[in-house]
Amino acid sequence: MKNISIIIPTYNEEDTVNECYTRLRKILKEYEEKYSFDIIFIDDGSKDSTLSKLEEIADNDKVVKVISFSRNFGQQSAIIAGIRENNSDAAVIIDCDMQDPPEIIIELIKLWEEGYEIVYARRKKRNGENIFKLLTSKLFYLILNKLSDTRIPRDTGDFRLIDKKVILSINSLKEHNKFLRGLFSWVGFKQKEYEYERQQRYGGNTKYSFKKMLKLAADGIYSFSTKPLEIVTGIGFISILISILVLIYSLIRYFTNDQNLSIGWTSIIVCITFFSGIQLLSLGIISQYIARIYDESKSRPEYIINKKINM
Ligand code: UDP
Ligand code: MG
Repeated sequence: MKNISIIIPTYNEEDTVNECYTRLRKILKEYEEKYSFDIIFIDDGSKDSTLSKLEEIADNDKVVKVISFSRNFGQQSAIIAGIRENNSDAAVIIDCDMQDPPEIIIELIKLWEEGYEIVYARRKKRNGENIFKLLTSKLFYLILNKLSDTRIPRDTGDFRLIDKKVILSINSLKEHNKFLRGLFSWVGFKQKEYEYERQQRYGGNTKYSFKKMLKLAADGIYSFSTKPLEIVTGIGFISILISILVLIYSLIRYFTNDQNLSIGWTSIIVCITFFSGIQLLSLGIISQYIARIYDESKSRPEYIINKKINM
């Protein structure tokens, strides 16, 4: 019998975790003759009662496994833990808040049975999300796809099914700052899109602060593109060109005995501030890469496990 595990990152989800379990369990029960399931909750250092609720669920149902982190390491790390700690034939990654309806898992499994190794769910409509989130997300995918050579499908999150081959490939990657959405594209294999309507959160609020969203976006861009460095180099060349032109212009005026040559104060100040701005910006971009190299070289693990239940 094929084994499928469901990976659910959870952070402060006391309002949704019980409902998520009940709804999932009901759907999976209908398919238990065909597949064996594991439901892996990763508690990403929740500060509310999520963990105790999960412990209670796992006590009564051995299908449920729990990995609990020592602190909040972020959704990407939680998913990575779920991928690393399983050896099933396929895994489905899904959020706890039921914005991605669990019923769709069955559709993803059907496509997997047709031979697709990655089946990603794409949001054709997003209910209950504010204009700001929709706009920033659109902008992010636009920039990312302009900058990166790896095509990353728009309007997809981490909600997807991945085959064992994909699990093994992701686990074999040595890099620490993993931007999964990009890596799932990067690993290749036969991929298929499944369109669905994203729902409202069942309870609670989004766990993605603006800061967390920015970090995810930066990770995506810096780990999948070195184009910002090329752009900076380009700007450098252009400014050198401009300064040579200005030099030639001033020399011509000097040799033609132009009386007004010293009236250059404004342009000097503008040039100085403009180019020092560019320099600082460039340094900032370069430092982002250096910071990431530094981070990788420390080789710290992506997460620290505090406790495992039923595994
Ligand atoms: N999540 C997590 N760690 C975090 C933030 C979020 O494990 O630091 C989980 C969260 O519990 C949820 C999923 O990741 O199951 C998606 O988060 P959320 O629904 O807040 O994001 P949104 O849908 O608003 O983008
Ligand atoms: Mg959500």
